[in-house]
Amino acid sequence: MTTAAPRLATAPAAAIPPFEHSYATLPERFFARIAPTPVRAPLLLRLNLPLAAELGLDADWLAGPHGVAMCAGNRLPASAQPLAMAYAGHQYGQFVPSLGDGRALLLGEVIDHAGQRRDLQLKGAGRTPFSRSGDGRAVLGPMLREYILGEAMQGLGIPTTRALAVVATGEPVLRERPEPGAVLTRVAASHIRVGTFEYFARRGDLDAVRTLADYVIDRHFPALTEHAAPYVELLAAIAARQGELIARWLLVGFIHGVLNTDNVALSGETIDFGPCAFMDRYDPNQVYSSIDHFGRYAYAQQPSIGLWNLTQLANCLLPLLDPDSEAAKAQARGALEAYGRAFASAYAGGLRAKLGLLAAAGTDQDADDELVQDLLGRMAAHHADFTNTFRALSDARPDQPHTLAAVRTQFDEAAAFDTWAEDWRARLARQAEPDAARQARMRTVNPAFIPRNHRVQQVIDAATERGDLAPLEQLLSVVSRPYDDHTGLAAYRQPPQPHEVVRQTFCGT
Ligand code: AMP
Ligand code: MG
Repeated sequence: MTTAAPRLATAPAAAIPPFEHSYATLPERFFARIAPTPVRAPLLLRLNLPLAAELGLDADWLAGPHGVAMCAGNRLPASAQPLAMAYAGHQYGQFVPSLGDGRALLLGEVIDHAGQRRDLQLKGAGRTPFSRSGDGRAVLGPMLREYILGEAMQGLGIPTTRALAVVATGEPVLRERPEPGAVLTRVAASHIRVGTFEYFARRGDLDAVRTLADYVIDRHFPALTEHAAPYVELLAAIAARQGELIARWLLVGFIHGVLNTDNVALSGETIDFGPCAFMDRYDPNQVYSSIDHFGRYAYAQQPSIGLWNLTQLANCLLPLLDPDSEAAKAQARGALEAYGRAFASAYAGGLRAKLGLLAAAGTDQDADDELVQDLLGRMAAHHADFTNTFRALSDARPDQPHTLAAVRTQFDEAAAFDTWAEDWRARLARQAEPDAARQARMRTVNPAFIPRNHRVQQVIDAATERGDLAPLEQLLSVVSRPYDDHTGLAAYRQPPQPHEVVRQTFCGT
C-alpha cells in the first residue's frame, strides 16, 4: 500500500480521534489479532453523515483518501488494533463450538457524543483465523441491505447496529456467480453475542465466562457493578432488553431471519441483518430467509426463539450463579422471567398505542387486548398490509365513515374491517381525547414507510447491475424519517405489485 499521504490541494481534514481498546485488554483467547486484507480499488459508495457526526468523526476525513482507505481495510490509522472476536453459537438449534468473526474485524472503539462507547468494525475485510472455508469477503447487495435496514431501524427508534460506510472493493466475490465485493463499516454498542459466552462456557473456561460477564456489566449495565448478585441481575437485564427488542420488531412487522445465538447482541441492539425483511401483508407465519425451511425464525416464532436463545445464555452463566446447580437453575429461571414480562408489556402496550387506546375510566386492558387481537386476526385472514393498515388507522376518525376508506381497501373483504371498526369507534368514545390528538399520537408509532423488500431489491439491483445509487438515496430518505409523510414519495408506501414481490432473501455469505 501507499506509504506517504497523498498531497492535498487544501489543508487535510483533521484525522479522527484515536481509537480506544477496552475489548483488546481482555485475555488473548478472546480474539485473534489480524490485519485486514487490502482490496484492489476502493470506492466510497455511501457515508453516513449523521452517524459520523454522532461519533465525532470528521466527515471530510472519512470521505477523503485516509478515511476511504480505512473503511476498505487498506490502510488503518495508527491507533487501530484490528482483531477478530471469538464466539460460538447455536445455528438453527445446532451448536457450533467455534464461529467467530470469519470476515469481520474490530478496529477499536470510539466514545460518541452521548458518552457511549461504540465499536467500529469492518465487515468483509478478509480472512481471519475464524474463516473456516469462507473467503472473508462480503457482497455489495447484502451490505446495502444491512445499511438500509439499520437506518430504517434507527428511524423507527429501535435499538440497532448501524453502517457508517459502504466501500466497493473493485474485486469480484464468488458466490453462485461472481458478485461485486464491498466492505461495510459497522457501528455497534458492542459486538458481544450470546455466542461469545457459549464459546467459553462450552470449553469449561469459567474464568473467561466470569471475565466476560464482568466486562458486559461494566460496559452495558454499569448500575449492576455494586449489586450483591450481579450475574443473575445481568441475565435478567439482558433478557429484559431482548424481550423489548423483539416486541418492537413485531410492532413494525420485522423478521430477522437468522436468530441464531451468534446473532443476538447482549447490548439489546438488532445485529446481523442477513436474510431479513419487513413484511407487507400481515402473516404471522411469514418467512423470507431462503434457508429457513421449517419456519424456525418466522415472524411469530421470534418471541419464543428469543427465550430459547436466552436459555442458552443462562446455561453459560449457571456456574456463576450458585455452586449448587439446582439453586443456580432456579435463579436463572427467575431471571429469565424478565424476558416474558418485558416482551408482554412492550408488545401489548405497543399494540394498544398503535390503535390509539389510552387507559381511561370504563376501559380495561384485557378488553383492549382482545380488540387488538381481533383486528390482527382479520388482517391476517384478509391479507391486509401491516404498515399501511395501521398508518391509515392513524389518519382515520371512526365517526366519519369517509376517513375509513383507506383502511377498508387494505382488506380483501372490507366488511371484515367494518364490523371491527364499530367496536373501535365505541372504544375510542370512552376516552376523552380529541381525535386530532389521538391521530397525532398514532402517527408517532405507526410508520408510513418501511424498507419494503421489493424496494430494497430494486436498490440492490440498480447499484449492482448499473452502478446507480440514486434509488438507494431515495429509499434512505424515506426510511430514515419513517413517521413523516414525505409527500411526493408516496410510491414508497405501496406494497409490491404481484410481479414485484420478493419472496426470499439470501444471506449472501
Ligand atoms: P452469519 O450467518 O453471517 O451470521 O455468519 C455466521 C458465521 O459465518 C460467522 O462466524 C461469520 O463470521 C462466518 N462467515 C459468514 N460469511 C463468511 C465469509 N464470507 N467468510 C468467512 N466467514 C464467514
Ligand atoms: Mg452472524
